[in-house]
Amino acid sequence: MVAVIGLGNMGMAMLKRLLAMGHQPRAWDLDPTKRDTARQAGAMIGADLAGSVADMTILSLPHDAAVAEVLAPILPALPQDAVIIDTSTLSPRAVRGFTEQAKAQGVFYLDAPVSGGPAGAAAGSMAMMVGGDAAALERATPILQHLTARLLHIGPSGAGQVAKLVNNLLVASHLVTAGEALRLGAAAGVAPEALLPLLNGASGRSAVTEVNWPRWIIPGSFDSGFSAGLMRKDVGLALELARELDVTLEATGRAAALWQELREAVPDDADFNRLSATLFAGVKP
Ligand code: NAD
Repeated sequence: MVAVIGLGNMGMAMLKRLLAMGHQPRAWDLDPTKRDTARQAGAMIGADLAGSVADMTILSLPHDAAVAEVLAPILPALPQDAVIIDTSTLSPRAVRGFTEQAKAQGVFYLDAPVSGGPAGAAAGSMAMMVGGDAAALERATPILQHLTARLLHIGPSGAGQVAKLVNNLLVASHLVTAGEALRLGAAAGVAPEALLPLLNGASGRSAVTEVNWPRWIIPGSFDSGFSAGLMRKDVGLALELARELDVTLEATGRAAALWQELREAVPDDADFNRLSATLFAGVKP
């Protein structure tokens, strides 16, 4: 039996994918309208959060505090040897604490952050990077295979989050550098529409030039389902990790600073691709 707790852009897409693959998931969200949507889609909603969990419980929550809030009532309600697969992006230090807390109740907690956005969740094509007990991951794999195209065990508890923070520090930086470099091209008379087909077959490419610019920035749709606020959280967690480990980040640190400095031009509820478009437009921090 599987459950999904947290039915936002990612959680709802994962829930619908599990339903489409023939599962009968339980589900819960703080927001009653999300619970109604999930019920209408075919999920089972319990009387409360603790009544909506299963031996394989997937979390998709915004931050460390929300996960702590959810774990308190569900850990005592879960059966022995249940597995929590936490797909939220969180601090590696916090997830090590969650792992210990779960262990004390006879439950396995895996940090299992994902890449691929709501579209990847809906299509079952996400990349999932997992930290924690390998045998628990093996037990969860038949379900996770329905959500992922690439499922990698990175290492012990926290290692999945480290991988995710490294990935997203790069994406945040690529959004900055692509916006700026494409502005240089445009100023010299070569528009992004002419540059991108070249870049994407050449060595300057990244997921930002291959996916974000063609799919969300050039058409102006800005409907990726990933907010600038969540990316700021991820960048902040990466900086916190660097401070803890005394690692100096010169270039990615400057890119991270721009995410903060452009808070007014790109508010937290804006699509995260707005940051690259704003730098392309030459908006100064
Ligand atoms: P979201 O803000 O759309 O959804 C979060 C959901 O959690 C909301 O429905 C909210 O009501 C619910 N929630 C919050 N606190 C709760 C609680 N205490 N109990 C129950 N429900 C609670 O966020 P999202 O975009 O779906 O992202 C979820 C997680 O996945 C985040 O950690 C994010 O960083 C990560 N992530 C998002 C994307 C993306 O493209 N959106 C991609 C990869 C990873």
